[in-house]
Amino acid sequence: MIGARNERQSFRIARCFHHSLQVGARHSTLYFTPLPAVERLAPYRSKSIKGSCFHQVKNRPSESLAFPNPNRHATEYQRAVRYSGSTMIESSPLDPIRLTRELCEIESTTYCEGAAGDFLEGFLAGRGWAVEKTPVPQPPESADSGARWNVYAGIEGQTPDLVFSTHMDTVPPYIPFSEDADFMYGRGVSDAKGIIAAQVAAAEALRAAGFRIGLLFVSGEERDSAGAKIANDSPKGSRFLINGEPTDNRLALASKGALRASFKSRGKMAHSAYPELGDSAVHKLVEVLAKVLALPLPVLEGIGPSTLNIGQIHGGYAPNVIADKAEAQVLVRTVTDSAPVRASLQKAAAGLAEVDFTLDTPFLRLRAVAGLPTMVAKFSTDIPYLTNWGEPLLLGPGSIHVAHTPFEKLAKKELHESVELYIQVAKQLLA
Ligand SMILES: [Zn+2]
Repeated sequence: MIGARNERQSFRIARCFHHSLQVGARHSTLYFTPLPAVERLAPYRSKSIKGSCFHQVKNRPSESLAFPNPNRHATEYQRAVRYSGSTMIESSPLDPIRLTRELCEIESTTYCEGAAGDFLEGFLAGRGWAVEKTPVPQPPESADSGARWNVYAGIEGQTPDLVFSTHMDTVPPYIPFSEDADFMYGRGVSDAKGIIAAQVAAAEALRAAGFRIGLLFVSGEERDSAGAKIANDSPKGSRFLINGEPTDNRLALASKGALRASFKSRGKMAHSAYPELGDSAVHKLVEVLAKVLALPLPVLEGIGPSTLNIGQIHGGYAPNVIADKAEAQVLVRTVTDSAPVRASLQKAAAGLAEVDFTLDTPFLRLRAVAGLPTMVAKFSTDIPYLTNWGEPLLLGPGSIHVAHTPFEKLAKKELHESVELYIQVAKQLLA
């Protein structure tokens, strides 16, 4: 066991060296300092990603860039002690800010989650978790062929009562991590790598207090929930699932559904001076979309209205050509069953366009916990695809208003508070 770990660590150190040559020779001497056995158990900090996932960029205070210390986990996070052939690991309390930074330094845009999964596997195994990696296949539309995973961590042979979950992937583009005294900035700090760090810290505190806790980190949430769908085939018997998304540390009472509709109009090309010879697909599509914008959409008391966005329109060639093709992509955030909304959209398109529903994530009501502030998540999550993992709750630090933007950030204080909240909610659920 320990031999296998060391072998893997050696390989990873070699990859670090490869990277250090690209960054600057000053790093290489440090990476080649021989490591004692204890320190070689230290979780690997990913340095290299191949394929279309462009390498993560470091953007940190100059002293830490100049002297990366591959041993610091071993000295500050953990200490492995050998007792007559077996390895026991004593973990000191986890620093969620450091873990957030390390996760954000690994680019893991959707389809490119492999290195983040490898890092978490090593990190969690090094802290005494039994870790399982499950492959998540690349879909045909992915330009990347690299392996990617779901990562589950639990205690060997133990059924967890409660599992924390969130996603390892982020939206593009990659934005390097940076920080100041109060905030962390960059892609994934709130959606959802800070959440991963908070969940690991909370799970470790709960584990130490005797609770049976698991951790599930999936790939693909930002595109099609591919990882969650795979994870749902091998649940671990948990009674509760606390899913993490940025909810400003408030428990979500509900999560809006997402109905994606693709409208396609067809026509006949002609010279625009002779409209009687053609049939404009663009004109038909515009007519459909005007009806779509005027549709009354369901409103749910206490939750709010359904909302609709026409996000993309394509069609036509030039002002003097009658277009034979046009299409639009529409997304409705639902607060009811999607059936009446589908019917309205189909009615609006009748005779003018074809409608395809390419995604239909249901609206969900979620469980509240006494004494905690609440909110309604206007976005959708992996929760509808994790139905076999227990009763779902939704909670996480950070604001959805800055997620998916160049201004993504997370207050360090809020991250620490989220660790305490996760612990509190888990204890209330399991009391
Ligand atoms: Zn997210």
